[in-house]
Amino acid sequence: MLCALFCVLASLCGSAPAQPDTASPARLSSADAVVSLNPHLDYLHDLDARLDVEQAHRLQQTGGFRPVPPGKNSFGFQPGAYWFHARLVNEGAPDTRWLLVQQYALSDDIELYALYPDGHWMRASGGDHRPFSSRSIRYRHPNFWLDLPRDTPVELYVRIQSESSMQVPMTLYTPTAFAEVSRDAQFTIGLYYGIIIALFFYNLVLWLTTQDSSYFWYVFHLTAFGMVLFTLNGLGFEYLWPNSAWMADKSVPLSICLAQVGVQQFSRKFLDLGNRWQRGDRIGRVLIGAFAALGVASAFLPYRVSVPIASAGVFVSIGWIAVEAIVVLRRGYTPARIFLMAWAAFLIGTAMFAAVAFALLPKTFVTEYGVQIGSALEMLLLSIALGYRYASLRNENERIIRDGRQQLMHEVKERTSELQEALSQLGEAHARLRESSQRDALTGLHTRRYFHERLPALLQEARERNAPLSLLMIDLDYFKSINDQHGHLVGDACLRWAARVLGTTLRPAHAVMARFGGEEFVVALPQHDLAAATRIAEQARLALASSECDSLEAPLRITTSIGVHEVDLAANENIDQALERADQALYRAKSAGRDCVRTTAEAIPL
Ligand code: GH3
Ligand code: MG
Ligand code: MG
Repeated sequence: MLCALFCVLASLCGSAPAQPDTASPARLSSADAVVSLNPHLDYLHDLDARLDVEQAHRLQQTGGFRPVPPGKNSFGFQPGAYWFHARLVNEGAPDTRWLLVQQYALSDDIELYALYPDGHWMRASGGDHRPFSSRSIRYRHPNFWLDLPRDTPVELYVRIQSESSMQVPMTLYTPTAFAEVSRDAQFTIGLYYGIIIALFFYNLVLWLTTQDSSYFWYVFHLTAFGMVLFTLNGLGFEYLWPNSAWMADKSVPLSICLAQVGVQQFSRKFLDLGNRWQRGDRIGRVLIGAFAALGVASAFLPYRVSVPIASAGVFVSIGWIAVEAIVVLRRGYTPARIFLMAWAAFLIGTAMFAAVAFALLPKTFVTEYGVQIGSALEMLLLSIALGYRYASLRNENERIIRDGRQQLMHEVKERTSELQEALSQLGEAHARLRESSQRDALTGLHTRRYFHERLPALLQEARERNAPLSLLMIDLDYFKSINDQHGHLVGDACLRWAARVLGTTLRPAHAVMARFGGEEFVVALPQHDLAAATRIAEQARLALASSECDSLEAPLRITTSIGVHEVDLAANENIDQALERADQALYRAKSAGRDCVRTTAEAIPL
């Protein structure tokens, strides 16, 4: 459709230089096999489409026709009918049967008249408003057999009336030359559609397996674009709607609009415009809406209105895709690079084709099939771009998961170390608490509770080692009177002093010592039998008795009574029983007048 537009532009821009009155006859020599008729054509624009062939012939004879300007084979969208004339003379070509091909598939009505010197007319008709089966040869372009006997001038008239652009690239072929030329063209076209069909199924399968909608829109675009070329090549009329003039007209604008809807939607999905460029996404949607509306409207609008609008829309559409891709690429979306390359291939191919139409490039295989080569490359690159995009999205997802996992691990580590810190603080606090609960606040000695906790282990150890274990129960004498005489604070100071003196004496014996309550202390002496324990008790008593509590203005002497008991391991004595016995010994010391040591044994082993 682009090329159609270029040709229209070319025809509009071309100015008419001074022309001779009539075109020269086409003289077919023995060397000719393919002859372009255009340099030999003159024409008449029958604006009201009212002339018949006799009238046209008369007008031609009286100079009513003008030669077609050199190189011109398109007149753009025109009302009425065009008459073309050429004088053909076979001056030695061995073939007398030639095929005239009008190399433009979309002309509606073509009537061909050949006037022979004997005055008889040969008539034929073609164009896509007549059934395909009426063609001389089953071929995508309109064609007509012409008898050109040797040395016989033939006046050829071709009348064309068409809604589509008035294009008249007319060529005469010998049957052999036509077979060769059409073979090459068919092969190229077949190759092209082969690529399109392979890409179609490949991407269809990818869409079905990945459910990624950009594959669907790619397949949609591919199909619609394939349909545009299929129609423009004349293959749609040949194979799909050989009897429908309506479809022959409507298929061009309809397929152009569908292809643009597909390509715009594909671009939106591929470039992820919804997330990467929202304003661009909205403009893309407006374009899609416009093409969809034009597609629907083209079913009702005349061909000459809908096709030029649709063709101009293609330029807007492709320009817009380039803008979208560049914006998204500059925002760091790398798959857009291959996407841009794909469209560049398409544009270069199309531009080469157009350059041939403007005679800027020679007509070679590459330039002539520029649109096909460019679009096949485009489709191929887009398919690769889809794969690249899929891979980069997958990598992105994997990276996000990896980062997330690392972040999670980092946080777990942090939390764990915080937890460990808190636990160790808690442990320390607990140890401090435990320590303080084990210590008596006033004297700094262990508490009675601690002593009770330790004693079972000492007892167990004594049993295992079969070693003796003794207990001392120590009570300060007449302590109440100290409180009474000197006050409670002095009493406290005396208690601290007594604890210190007792501790100094007993600790070397590995004693476990505790404040039992009030002014009473309890001591466990591992590995001391009754005699050893009594000796230690006596030392303690003496130590207290021989020193003075110095916390007062006037030094104070305090004596102490001590009960000693060796735990009876043989009798399996328990803790309470042992303490009870020690207390009894203490009671005996008190009874004996205080400031003395007594044991639970009958005899006093001093
Ligand atoms: P005994 O020779 O019979 O043991 O006479 P005692 O006065 O020492 O005995 P008693 O059990 O009648 O009195 C003990 C006194 O110890 C009573 C109390 O005022 C005093 N006391 C107990 N705990 C403390 C303390 O923590 N600080 C002070 N200052 N006095 C205490
Ligand atoms: Mg006392
Ligand atoms: Mg007491």
